[in-house]
Amino acid sequence: KRAEFEAQRDAAPETQCGKRLKVMVNAGLREDVAAVNLAGADGIGLFRTEFQFLVSATLPRRDAQQKLYTDVLDASGDKPVIFRTLDIGGDKAVPYLRTETSKEENPAMGWRALRLSLDREGLMKVQARALIEAAAGKTLNVMFPMVSEPWEFDEARALFEAQRVWLEDRHHMLPHDIRYGCMLEVPALAEILDQLLPRLDFLSIGTNDLTQFLFAADRADPRIADRYDWLSPAILRFIRRIVRETTAAGVPTTICGEMGGRPIEAMALIGLGVEQLSITPAAVGSIKAMIRSLDAEQLRGRMDEWLAEPPPDMRQTLLDWAEQRSV
Ligand code: PEP
Ligand code: MG
Repeated sequence: KRAEFEAQRDAAPETQCGKRLKVMVNAGLREDVAAVNLAGADGIGLFRTEFQFLVSATLPRRDAQQKLYTDVLDASGDKPVIFRTLDIGGDKAVPYLRTETSKEENPAMGWRALRLSLDREGLMKVQARALIEAAAGKTLNVMFPMVSEPWEFDEARALFEAQRVWLEDRHHMLPHDIRYGCMLEVPALAEILDQLLPRLDFLSIGTNDLTQFLFAADRADPRIADRYDWLSPAILRFIRRIVRETTAAGVPTTICGEMGGRPIEAMALIGLGVEQLSITPAAVGSIKAMIRSLDAEQLRGRMDEWLAEPPPDMRQTLLDWAEQRSV
């Protein structure tokens, strides 16, 4: 199988019914970037900028941030890179960032990601300038993590735009375009998508956090890891609803949680209408192999039937369906 998957890595992820999907990779360190080209991916769908902060003993300075972003963009060539702004705080604490809050009871739901960035504007301004300068002459794709209400997206975007103007006034070279998107990983955001979508250039569904919040089940606790399934009808219906809405609004939508890197889960997602996945580089071969053998149109009809009247074991049902059709 392994050699077979490796051979598939450079093939286009096109389904049996002729749909060209996008398979991108998740990255976070300079070393990951080689994987984009090696793995035959369509770009980096999620660049986790916090990794540089987590592996550093001191706050990374602006020039160090900018250098990393420049290297990533250079290595990716014509392929797009989506930079996610810092997702630190909570359980991804960094010792050099002093926090006034005492220890949090629920760090995953705490003062983290965009919540922290909007409170610590200085931090985000530095990152914004580093990203804008690194993308001079190119397109910059910026994505904000843990957005729970549209105003948070607006504030973050306004902060970036202000930095763009600041740099422009000082005659710095700018990106020819800045595209703004956000993560959907807080369930509340799904209820207010109609308000948010007109402001977005793209959306990315973070199924790691989304499922932990949807099921009220800590993603880091192995004791509850098998208490729920990514293929449960609740999750699949939830994602289908989001994807229907973003598709109708014409907002490109990616799944960037680990779920998308598992063949049966990825197959189910495509059956819900998902057209873009951002996955761990090691999974590109197996996911492309699945896509190239899949009749997505046929699966779509079946998914709607299964979700209307869920079978007792959705995973087994999907596995059987795939096996019968040699997916
Ligand atoms: C997610 O939550 O699904 C996600 C992609 O972000 P992270 O795993 O970095 O929280
Ligand atoms: Mg997340």
